[in-house]
Amino acid sequence: MEKRGLHVSKVTALDHLKRLIQEKAIKWGADLVGFADISRFTRYHIDHRPPNKAKTTIVLALWIEDPILDLWLHPPSWKVQGKPDRAFEDEVLRGVSLRLSLLLEREGYWANPAEYEPGLYLKEAGVLAGLGVIGKNNLLITKAYGPRIRLRALNTDALLEPDLIHQGLNYCHNCRKCIDACPANALDGGAYNKEACRSYCEDHLKKVSEYSVLWCMACSTVCPIGKSSHSQLGDE
Ligand code: SF4
Ligand code: SF4
Repeated sequence: MEKRGLHVSKVTALDHLKRLIQEKAIKWGADLVGFADISRFTRYHIDHRPPNKAKTTIVLALWIEDPILDLWLHPPSWKVQGKPDRAFEDEVLRGVSLRLSLLLEREGYWANPAEYEPGLYLKEAGVLAGLGVIGKNNLLITKAYGPRIRLRALNTDALLEPDLIHQGLNYCHNCRKCIDACPANALDGGAYNKEACRSYCEDHLKKVSEYSVLWCMACSTVCPIGKSSHSQLGDE
């Protein structure tokens, strides 16, 4: 029997591998895992697609259960370098993506964590991997955690069954809580003003220690979808 051009025993092995990846990703620290066929990325510039050898992009999400998980470490030079330094939750997801890559390699496949710059558009990759949809706050909204997540991806040449894209799903409807909550008016008019957002955020960093800060999270904190930060289990 053939399925997507693969013999059935190979399909069974790949189904098993997908389940193993889901199980290990959660065990190692991710909260959501999604799978996208790389043909879903053809609409993007080549710099923002998975490499040619990849067949599947795996997208990982980590719930920001407490805002402290979104802590950024900024050495004194971060503005000169033109970009912030490391965020704590990204280090967690980087570790998970590296361990999953090693797992895939042990199973005989090529795998690598996705590059950041240039690299995949992670929110869009989350949509393509079935994790959620983009909301009015320009963030990926997931059913379980709303926009209070951080994302990371890895690519592999294992042809894993893609997850369904949530076509037509809309969490926002008439809600405009994020638009009203934005102190920079960066979400007004139905489009995300990246410059206004970034400028406000950089001018209003919440200092936690000498080199660690929290960025503005107003548009994700206020979103009513999914578990909020600081929430108890069962209040979804
Ligand atoms: S706050 Fe409301 S409008 Fe904004 S992303 Fe969440 S559901 Fe959509
Ligand atoms: S992060 Fe803050 S400034 Fe940027 S869009 Fe969200 S609420 Fe507005």
